[in-house]
Amino acid sequence: MNPYNKTIIDTDALAHNYRFLCRRAPSARMMAMVKSDGYGHSMVESAKIFRENGCRSFGVAELSEGVELRDSGCQDEIIVFMGFDYAERDYLLTHNLTPVVFRRDDLERISRMQSAAQVHLPLFLKFDCGMSRLGFKVREATELFSYCRDLNLTVHGVISHYPSSDEPNSASSAIVLKQFEQIIRVEGYHDTMRSSLCNSGGILYHGNAHGGMVRAGISLFGYYPDGSRGRFADRAGGLKPAMKFVSRVLQINEVASGTGVSYGHTFVTDRETRLAVIPVGYSDGYFRTLSNRASVLIKGSRAPIRGRICMNMCMADVTDIEGVQAGDEVVLMGTQGAETIDADEIGGWCDTISYELLCAIGNNNTREFI
Ligand SMILES: *Cc1c(COP(=O)(O)O)cnc(C)c1O
Repeated sequence: MNPYNKTIIDTDALAHNYRFLCRRAPSARMMAMVKSDGYGHSMVESAKIFRENGCRSFGVAELSEGVELRDSGCQDEIIVFMGFDYAERDYLLTHNLTPVVFRRDDLERISRMQSAAQVHLPLFLKFDCGMSRLGFKVREATELFSYCRDLNLTVHGVISHYPSSDEPNSASSAIVLKQFEQIIRVEGYHDTMRSSLCNSGGILYHGNAHGGMVRAGISLFGYYPDGSRGRFADRAGGLKPAMKFVSRVLQINEVASGTGVSYGHTFVTDRETRLAVIPVGYSDGYFRTLSNRASVLIKGSRAPIRGRICMNMCMADVTDIEGVQAGDEVVLMGTQGAETIDADEIGGWCDTISYELLCAIGNNNTREFI
């Protein structure tokens, strides 16, 4: 990997965000969703920070992530959201992982494993209340709970997922909550049962639906699920983005007016131009759709990207920034001087969301923690 490029993860921001979110959901247990290597921030390192601040539940997508987190020394509850392949079922026991179950055959498998190993493996049931993704149907709830009792399974809680919780006034969220409440009513609240419906949008915008446990993902890493709208609307001081992405100028290239830049010459200069060649391309998670749209920060000023982003390089126009030299720091995401470019702004340039950018940039570059 290029020694110039790195993401810098602000661990104070992670701690701040964790505490901020706990204050927004004071009655619920807080689960940190650290899938996709902590949304690009390192699953293991970010889980450590959240734990230091009181977190005792961690959510991952894949069984293999749960294994890695457990092997890193995590002793807390680890919940695996995407099920398990039959061939890998033993890891649930050896690594004490808590599955979210959405298939009947998995219930039967877990029941058999329990009897064979003489242990109890708590699990969560996943219901589809409107996402049209994973889960049992709400109408199955009554029968499913009694089936679990027959199989001698310990249902630790029920989980569902909002499709549109990032829209504070969406009608869909009210419908989803109604569906979810039907499931809770079937089973009834009791001490060991936890209900969980809220992701970041639910935590921030649907305080009436927090239930026994909330699942924060993007917000832990400093972003609002509804992007800059959410940041702007939150006057409470708010979430702090934790990831910065930096590089350095590789070379300055001075070209005449009328010169085409990069593949396909999609940009042609209309004046004598100083281009800073930056060793960041789409293989580093800096999407090609940012070509001719993005800006980067050099010497505290915005420098627009000219021409197509290549696999390993891109060019920024520094004609208006005095004295830029090879080796100068480039901030592609984060703050430099008085200027800030965050993942929401970059997402706006290439028609995506902070989530995707954090995963792409965070999981393709060397990380440093401060
Ligand atoms: C990723 C995920 C979350 C967290 O969502 P954010 O919008 O990032 O807060 C919560 N629940 C489930 C099931 C998820 O997969």
